[in-house]
Amino acid sequence: MLNFPLQLRERHMKTVDSERLKAKIIEWGASLVGFGDVSIGLAPELKHMPYAISLAVKHPMGRGTYKCGSMTAYSNQYEEVDRVLESVQKNITALLKSQGWHTLAIPPDSARVDGSFVSKLYPLFPHKTAATCAGLGWIGKSGLLVNPMFGARLSWATVLTDAPLKVCQTPYTESKCGNCSKCVNACPASAIRNVNWKRGEKAEIFIDAGACLEYMSYTVKVFQKYICGLCILACPLGGRKK
Ligand code: SF4
Ligand code: SF4
Repeated sequence: MLNFPLQLRERHMKTVDSERLKAKIIEWGASLVGFGDVSIGLAPELKHMPYAISLAVKHPMGRGTYKCGSMTAYSNQYEEVDRVLESVQKNITALLKSQGWHTLAIPPDSARVDGSFVSKLYPLFPHKTAATCAGLGWIGKSGLLVNPMFGARLSWATVLTDAPLKVCQTPYTESKCGNCSKCVNACPASAIRNVNWKRGEKAEIFIDAGACLEYMSYTVKVFQKYICGLCILACPLGGRKK
């Protein structure tokens, strides 16, 4: 009787066809997907799920820039993009669970709900870890995840699992920003320190989050909302050069 759950699980578990799963995830609406081994540095609470499915949805082009007073700002239509991400996450977890695997969906940043069960896990696992391990991007000088094709114009979500996925063998472990400093020059708060990221380094080394937040608080006073995103707009990798 004690062995029953294991036997049941083994009976239902199927081999995961990683390429087929990736194709399905794209079909469900993701713009990018990758699998990464995140076992190094994983919090003890999550050690039983050492693989990450990192997925991103691109922000609709042409609708990201708007004028607010005399200021150009960037809005990435969080709600619309996050709805797609959450629906893809649901499909992934349903499929893997039906095959006997464990999953934990870490929601997109703007869809996180304080007080929920999963909210306790938010600080334990950033999407940046999943995306860099899955070879989808690096942490740019702006502190944002940067993908070679879409720049920082993406929203991200993660599904952790114990399903044995074929993981990326070439994760990003350092920045590919090189000598570019467009976001540094664009930042009105001088918050971006012009430092290239390396795996393991803390965000404070390359971005002054306090200065960014202070500037954003100022925009709330003037425009009644947090707006800026000039570092996203400035990035030449986003398909829209300034
Ligand atoms: S959001 Fe604005 S203030 Fe914050 S780092 Fe980007 S450009 Fe600077
Ligand atoms: S603007 Fe340049 S330095 Fe900044 S994140 Fe993009 S590529 Fe990196």
